[in-house]
Amino acid sequence: MKSLEERILKDGVIINNDILKVDSFLNHQIDVALARDLAKEITEHFNGDGVNKILTIETSGIAFAYAVAQEMGDLPLVFAKKSKSATVGNDVYTAQVKSFTRNTVSPITVSNKYIKPSDTVLIVDDFLAEGNAAFGLLDICRQAGAKVVGVAVAIEKGFQGGRRRLEAEGLKVYSGANVKEFKDNKPVF
Ligand code: 5GP
Repeated sequence: MKSLEERILKDGVIINNDILKVDSFLNHQIDVALARDLAKEITEHFNGDGVNKILTIETSGIAFAYAVAQEMGDLPLVFAKKSKSATVGNDVYTAQVKSFTRNTVSPITVSNKYIKPSDTVLIVDDFLAEGNAAFGLLDICRQAGAKVVGVAVAIEKGFQGGRRRLEAEGLKVYSGANVKEFKDNKPVF
């Protein structure tokens, strides 16, 4: 989406040559109109795929996934928790996820009440890098017997391999902007 690419060029900050910081419009302050425009494109892209539930991961995926869930017809939005809290019972699905930004491996959990075999799920996140977060969510859906049609993200870093891994699983992948490389400290689309 052109407007997202322009916003990344204007406000994105590259850290350590492989992380894009977009706190001013996606990860700290959120540009709601931009999120809605992206959500409209995602709705069109997955139109006809029978999606009835959105699944994301806390924390940074939630706000964007909310926009998508609303745009797709007020679908239920489920987010995987990164720590097992007292409000989640023992009946949970768990997967291990390597964090791209922290370089640690941690469990994520989803209550088995909220993903069912009858569900057709779209995984939504803010970023796609190596695909580890999406694979953790896919693992949980498979444990639940739910169908996953694809993965939709605001920003993909195409040089980190996530799309290839997900498409090899038969999933459709949508990104609002695909950063092909960082060159001279600027994103190239
Ligand atoms: P993956 O699991 O696909 O390797 O990385 C995606 C996850 O890591 C997303 O949930 C996102 O929060 C985080 N992430 C990966 N790369 C970036 C990045 O360049 N910038 C930001 N802000 N988050 C990222």
